Amino acid sequence: MNQFTNHYLQLPNHLYRNVDPEPLWDAHLLHYNQTLAQEIGIALTSEEVAQLTSGQALPAEFAPLAQKYTGHQFGYYNPDLGDGRGLLLGQVLHQNQSWDLHLKGAGQTPFSRRGDGRAVLRSAVREYLIGEALHYLNVPSTRCLSLSHCPETVYREKIETRASYIRVAKTHIRFGHFEWLAEINDRDSFRQLADYVIAQIYPHLSEHHEAQRYAQLFQEICGKTAQMIAKWQAVGFCHGVMNTDNMSIAGETFDFGPYAFLDDFKIHYICNQSDSEGRYAYSQQPNIGLWNCQVLGQAFLLLLDSTQVQQGLDHFVTTYNQHYLALMGAKFGLQTVHTDDRDFIAQSLILMDKSQLDFHHFFKKLALLESDQEAQWQQFIGDSKAWRDWQTQYLARTASQERIQRQQQIQQHTADFVLRNHIAQEIIQQCEKGNAELLSQAMQWLQTPHQPAPELAENYAHFLQAPTATQKGIALSCSS
Ligand code: AMP
Ligand code: MG
Ligand code: MG
Repeated sequence: MNQFTNHYLQLPNHLYRNVDPEPLWDAHLLHYNQTLAQEIGIALTSEEVAQLTSGQALPAEFAPLAQKYTGHQFGYYNPDLGDGRGLLLGQVLHQNQSWDLHLKGAGQTPFSRRGDGRAVLRSAVREYLIGEALHYLNVPSTRCLSLSHCPETVYREKIETRASYIRVAKTHIRFGHFEWLAEINDRDSFRQLADYVIAQIYPHLSEHHEAQRYAQLFQEICGKTAQMIAKWQAVGFCHGVMNTDNMSIAGETFDFGPYAFLDDFKIHYICNQSDSEGRYAYSQQPNIGLWNCQVLGQAFLLLLDSTQVQQGLDHFVTTYNQHYLALMGAKFGLQTVHTDDRDFIAQSLILMDKSQLDFHHFFKKLALLESDQEAQWQQFIGDSKAWRDWQTQYLARTASQERIQRQQQIQQHTADFVLRNHIAQEIIQQCEKGNAELLSQAMQWLQTPHQPAPELAENYAHFLQAPTATQKGIALSCSS
C-alpha cells in the first residue's frame, strides 16, 4: 500500500520548479474521501491525511513541484501561466495505474503572479463535490481526496476563509503544456512530454512506430475530449471556463470554477458571470472543445504535418456526433438511434428552451408518459399545441418499442439527484459554520444519483425537487 513517487521529475527540469508548500497551521480536516482512497490504493490515517492536506508533512517519496504551462484564456494566448496556487506532490501507483496527487491552495509559487497562492473554502467545496457528481454520472473527471479548512481570512469579492485540498487526476498535463513547448520551439522536450503522456495515459500507443505514434496520440486526445464534452451536454453540465490551460490531456473534466448544471433548459445558458459574450455557453461547449483541439493541433505541428492534425480534428467531430447522438437518444428512451434523430433531438431542445422547462425534470416526467402517473407529465408540459404535436411525434417515433423498456431507459439516463448550484451553496454554508455533516452526506448521496438514498429523500427532499425561482440559474464569477 501507499506506493508513492514523483515520476514528473524524469522530465526536463525547465518544465517545473521545486516548491515546498506553505503549511496552513491551524487547519482542520473537513473530509477524507475514503471511497476514493481505497480505489487508488491509499492507506493513510485521518491524522496523516490532515497533515498532508494542510501541507504540514509529506511522505518522503513525494517531491512537490509547480508545473509550467501556458494557454489560451477566452481566446487569447497567455504566456505567463503555470501552477500559481497548487503543487503536484507526486503520484500513487496502484494496479498498473498512476494517479497524480495535487495540493491546491498550497501557497505561492514562481507562477503566482500577484495571487496569494491560496484557495477559498467556497470554491474548494464546489470542486470537492463536482468531481464525485460527474464521476458517478459516468463523466470522466478529476476527483478530490481530502479537504482542509483554515479560519484565516482572505479577500476575494468579499472576506472568505481559506481551504486546501488534494486533487486526484490521471495527469495534470494540460493542452497548455504543449502550447508552451511549441511557443519556445523546444522539440526535444515536446517529444519527451508526448512520450511521457503516452506511457502514463495512452500506453497502448507505445507500440506504434514513431511516424504514427504522435499522430495517434493527438487523435486520441481529440477523441477523449469529444467524448467528455458529449457527456457534459447529455447530463446538462456547463464547465464555464474552457480555457486551454483548463483542458486535461487525458480527457478528464478539470479545473473547476463557476460550473453549473442546467436548471431550466436554456440552450445558450452562461454559468460564468465573467463570460459576457457567452464564449463558454452550454451550446458552445462542443465548438469550443474543437477550437481548443485546433490550438493543441497547432502546437503538435512541431511533430506532425497538417494532414495528420486535420485527421485528429476530424476524429473529434465524428466522435462527438456519435456519442452525443447515442447519449441523447438514450435519454429520450430511443432504443436505437438514426442520424435523423439529431433533428428530433434538436427540435425537442428548442421547444424545451422556449417553454423554460427544467432539463432534468423534463426527462423524469417524460418517463411517466403512458403510465398511471401520466397526469404529472401533462401538467409539467402544460396545455399547448406545440407540446401536443411533439407528443404525437414522439409516440410515433417510439411506437415500435416496448413502453416499459422506453420508460426504464429514460429513468436510467437521468439523475434524480443533481448537484445544482443552490444545493452546493447550502452545503458550503454548513461548511463555513464548521459543520461538515452535510458535505459528508452529499459525498455519499452523489454515489447513487439515480437512486436517491432514503435519508436524502426524507430529510432533504428539496434537493430532489425543481428549484424555486430564486434558486434557479445562479451564475458565479471566476473568482476563487
Ligand atoms: P484558474 O482560473 O484557476 O484556472 O487559474 C488561472 C491561472 O491563475 C493559473 O495559472 C493559476 O495558478 C493562477 N491563479 C489563480 N488564482 C490564483 C491565486 N489565488 N494565487 C496564485 N495564482 C492564482
Ligand atoms: Mg528532471
Ligand atoms: Mg486553471
